[in-house]
Amino acid sequence: MSWSIRWKVAIGTLVAVACGLLIAGWMTVRSLEQQSLTQFSETLEAKAKLVEYAFQSLVQSSTLPVTPSRLQDTTRDLGSRSSARITLIASDGTVRADSAVRDTDLPALDNHTSRPEVTQAFATGQGQDVRPSHTTGERTMYHARLLKVPHDTAPWVVRVALPLAHVDRASDEFKHQLFLALGIAFLLAVMLSFWLAHSITKPLSEIASVAQALSSGNPAIRIKTTAQDEVGLLASTLNQMADQLHTKIEELSEDRAQLLAVLTSMVEGVMVLDARSHVLQINPALERMFGIARVEARGRPCAELFRHQQLNTLVSTILDTRIPREDEILLPLSGRHLHIEATPAGGERENEACIVLVFHDVTDLRRLEKIRKDFVANVSHELRTPLTSIKGYVEALLDGGKDDPAVAGRFLDIILKQSDRLNLIIEDLLELSKIESGQISLKEEPLDLRTLVDRTLSTITPIANRKGHRLVTTLDPSLPLIAGDDDRLVQILTNLLDNAIKYTLAGGTITISATAAPSANRDEPSPNAIDLIVADTGIGIPERDRPRIFERFYRVDKARSRDLGGTGLGLAIVKHLVEGHGGQVWVEANHPQGSRFVVRLPIKGGKRFPAQWNQDNTV
Ligand code: ADP
Repeated sequence: MSWSIRWKVAIGTLVAVACGLLIAGWMTVRSLEQQSLTQFSETLEAKAKLVEYAFQSLVQSSTLPVTPSRLQDTTRDLGSRSSARITLIASDGTVRADSAVRDTDLPALDNHTSRPEVTQAFATGQGQDVRPSHTTGERTMYHARLLKVPHDTAPWVVRVALPLAHVDRASDEFKHQLFLALGIAFLLAVMLSFWLAHSITKPLSEIASVAQALSSGNPAIRIKTTAQDEVGLLASTLNQMADQLHTKIEELSEDRAQLLAVLTSMVEGVMVLDARSHVLQINPALERMFGIARVEARGRPCAELFRHQQLNTLVSTILDTRIPREDEILLPLSGRHLHIEATPAGGERENEACIVLVFHDVTDLRRLEKIRKDFVANVSHELRTPLTSIKGYVEALLDGGKDDPAVAGRFLDIILKQSDRLNLIIEDLLELSKIESGQISLKEEPLDLRTLVDRTLSTITPIANRKGHRLVTTLDPSLPLIAGDDDRLVQILTNLLDNAIKYTLAGGTITISATAAPSANRDEPSPNAIDLIVADTGIGIPERDRPRIFERFYRVDKARSRDLGGTGLGLAIVKHLVEGHGGQVWVEANHPQGSRFVVRLPIKGGKRFPAQWNQDNTV
């Protein structure tokens, strides 16, 4: 059992006070009894001397031995005068007279030689003793003195006895009063000690409860005290400590919040490992990169968490060498490229930052690099093909072909065709580069889709006619005007229709339609976008090639595209122009046959189409 300070102080004080009071009481009683006995003994001695003197006068004044009856009468007389019991004892110990005994009973009294006071008196002249009387049974003080008797050879002893009853009564009375006083004093001490214990422990209890509140995360709580003593000093010191702690915690919290804000807002993934390569911290960017949650990552070994050999090797190299390193890894599942900067942080112990790894997602960079390389390779290849052809035919002409007008004419025709193709590629490339570099600024004017389709069809229809295609136009009459650049939208339509004509066998059907784009729930049309669709019944595009056909120079069938006069840049131009209008373009299969190109353009405020718009333009 553990006692509170209050009880310890109270009980301790009470035990000390009780001991003090008992000792003081005992000593007082003892000294008082001593004092009473001394006084009593002096009184008794004085009385004994007077009695001795009286007997001395009696025995010396008479010439004849004093008769026993006279002795007894004198003894009784002196006894009543001195209010004491007087006994005369002869040298042989027989009692010759006793004031408290009848004359007839005297012979029955036993020999008094053995009484201590009598023995002392015979030996030294006087003797004293305190004991219960044989005769009265009361506690009695005896004083004996030697008495010279002329008619006896040996001296007698005169003894005076007084009962101690009233001394004992006074002593008992005193003890009673004393214990009452001591009891009251003890009661006062009890109250005082409890008040003292309370007044000492109350501020201590307050300090303890405030300290508890502080430790359980209530930093604003303080001890209220006006005390100037040690407890007051303790309280104010604790308050100062709490202030400092509060300030430090706030500073740390601010630092932590700033650090967290930096870590959270970083695009780069950050991971902190300890000396055992266990994860201490990761930021949201890293969570996204690896598809893991911070809670499950923290405390786990890096190797077990990521299971990436290259990353593990990098971490163990840093742990061994303590030198910063860089590396690039490929995540097999997502296919993302991550450039890692790993720096030793200095921590040596468990849960101390030892390595900081910063992950940069360089996937887009690598993709762009690849596109650039592919593009350079493609451009060289595309340009070299007609150039090689031109060079070959020029050499053939020089080698004698020019001398034969028929051959020369055919060769020059081919050279012209290849020059045109070269020109076309260069024009498309320049166009693309202008769009990409933002040199072409797209207008935003209200446009009527019918006018756009009409303008496009005026140039496309003759080409379609040559292959015997049927051109069908289906435009939703309720569509609003769209905002855009008319020339560029015509260019988009022309490229798509040109491809549709090229990649559809003679006698096919090409449909141009425009409808409101479906909304998110697909039941109602979206009021924000329209779909411009070019569908054909041509050779179609395999599903695997569909995502790539908008890349520059990407062609499903290179030879066929070249034979048909394609540059491989038409759809790339379409994509850039559509995106320049804030739209999207994609291709899907056209059922039952062919391809279906969808251009989704946003409506940026416009009017509705006139109602009569819906026609079938069969060519
Ligand atoms: P090209 O000048 O070769 O036509 P594009 O960029 O216009 O270049 O088209 C890229 C490739 O997409 C074409 O080579 C062709 O393989 C394919 N393609 C485009 N439009 C169609 C279509 N309507 N039907 C089938 N294939 C098409």
